[in-house]
Amino acid sequence: MQFESLNLIEPILQALKEEGYTTPTPIQAQAIPIVLQGTDLLGCAQTGTGKTAAFAIPILQLLSAEKLYGNKKKIRSLVVTPTRELAIQIAESFNAYGRHTGLKNTVVFGGVGQSPQVAAIRNGVDVLIATPGRLLDLMHQGHISLRDVEIFVLDEADRMLDMGFINDVKKLLSVLPKKKQTLFFSATMPPEIVKLSSSILHNPEK
Ligand code: AMP
Repeated sequence: MQFESLNLIEPILQALKEEGYTTPTPIQAQAIPIVLQGTDLLGCAQTGTGKTAAFAIPILQLLSAEKLYGNKKKIRSLVVTPTRELAIQIAESFNAYGRHTGLKNTVVFGGVGQSPQVAAIRNGVDVLIATPGRLLDLMHQGHISLRDVEIFVLDEADRMLDMGFINDVKKLLSVLPKKKQTLFFSATMPPEIVKLSSSILHNPEK
């Protein structure tokens, strides 16, 4: 299978070509059509399988259908991931695959000053990639509104639980809009993860 057969828009196909990607990985081939049709997704995949592109590519395509400009941009997709390293990698993927779409993203994580992150958000972004603690901090300070989020990604859910982020995740879920598409990724599926996923997802494809 080639990326051409996944009904992707030209600006994304062009970026994938520039990245040197020709063939989708198995999780990409399975997940991209599901996400494009607006369905919730439960993805069981480790880092290294191409899972970042499996959600970043269809999110960029869905957001491209309605573009907003400048500081009118709203956070329409939120990706929450447990570590700063993962957050940075995910932002790089959105930059790479989205470079011809005009969509903007930024990344927030703790342990560094918040001013540049706040300034980036104020400039307007379509996609926010965040670790849970700093995200909640900035939200409580009024710098981030999540009321326009249409697509929510919970990445590495099992690590999130291991690192003690469960309460942060629950707080986030309580402020996110009820009506949204949710993509849930975990490398392992222990019972707590299955329970968490079924409390978050609506009729997901696996
Ligand atoms: P991930 O599992 O998302 O961390 O991705 C692992 C690595 O595979 C990253 O360095 C990607 O740039 C690369 N990658 C992802 N999808 C593809 C693809 N379809 N073809 C070639 N490389 C890819």
